[in-house]
Amino acid sequence: FSKRMGPNMFSYYQASMNTPTLKRMTIENHLHRAFDGNEFELYYQPQFDLITGTPTGVEALLRWHNRELGEVPPMEFIPMAEDSGMIVAIGEWVMRTACRQAQTWLDRGLPLGRIAINVSSKQFIHPGFVEMMKRILLEIKLPPGLLEIEILEELIRGGAREIIETLNALKQMNIRIAVDDFGSGYSSLACLEETDIDCLKIDSVFVGGISGGKVGRSVVSGIIAMAEEMDMRVIAEGVETKEQAAFLRKKQCQEVQGYLFSRPMSTPQVETFLLNNLGFKSVANSGLDHKL
Ligand code: C2E
Ligand code: MG
Ligand code: MG
Ligand code: MG
Repeated sequence: FSKRMGPNMFSYYQASMNTPTLKRMTIENHLHRAFDGNEFELYYQPQFDLITGTPTGVEALLRWHNRELGEVPPMEFIPMAEDSGMIVAIGEWVMRTACRQAQTWLDRGLPLGRIAINVSSKQFIHPGFVEMMKRILLEIKLPPGLLEIEILEELIRGGAREIIETLNALKQMNIRIAVDDFGSGYSSLACLEETDIDCLKIDSVFVGGISGGKVGRSVVSGIIAMAEEMDMRVIAEGVETKEQAAFLRKKQCQEVQGYLFSRPMSTPQVETFLLNNLGFKSVANSGLDHKL
């Protein structure tokens, strides 16, 4: 089971779906019709500057509501969408929807520092990926500097030429790159030299390890020090406790994301959140300090 699934995520299990294969086939069948039924929605989770408490941006997170299956968590259906190739269409929908949303927020004057969008490795290596990004940016005219795509460490691990080239093409378009779930493979570091990564997101497993002991803490402080050395931003994700936040602050981690600060929210919820935080520095500070 995935590390991020809570117990309530299994509500869509049905008595009839008692074998993994059957369950998978059922989900896949529904997934093929999810677009027609308008079943996808993006949620947004704010990220914060750990010193000032200011939101620095939001990460778009895909939600799938299906009448029969209920809420299917992305850790369940994204791998299936990758296997079937549907991830290309789903990924394009996510990219277009998130960029449109960001543009709408900018037009309405909501403070939005950045929008981060997850890109699956399968989607990234698809030959049309860069063209798709160009098309969307041309169509929506979102300043590309606002856009940060989150890729996985596995993608850059081997240092494949094509991948470095695609990353560099995106950098030329002024899109930012973050490495998501960073920490399990320091081996991918060599590739970081060859392209211009903007941000490392420390995997929530390691953030959770802060409370565990010296080993967990040294992995986290190691990543923070390395990011600093290499001029990259660093975001700790999955921050759930005050103790973790205090440790991250002590180690001068720049940004945080996690349930301690805010859960992923629907569009209207995140709008209210961002609006209420307009020009809010001192308020945010006190709020955050209170929480810490
Ligand atoms: P991720 O990109 O690493 O996203 C962070 C996940 O951690 C999200 O789960 C988020 O809701 C959850 N999270 C945030 N703060 C906390 C916390 O304090 N505690 C805990 N326990 N969890 C926290 P979510 O939304 O279920 O997404 C899971 C994964 O599915 C994402 O991990 C990402 O890999 C993938 N995913 C989600 N949306 C998309 C998408 O639009 N495209 C692609 N390709 N993948 C996506
Ligand atoms: Mg992510
Ligand atoms: Mg992550
Ligand atoms: Mg992940």
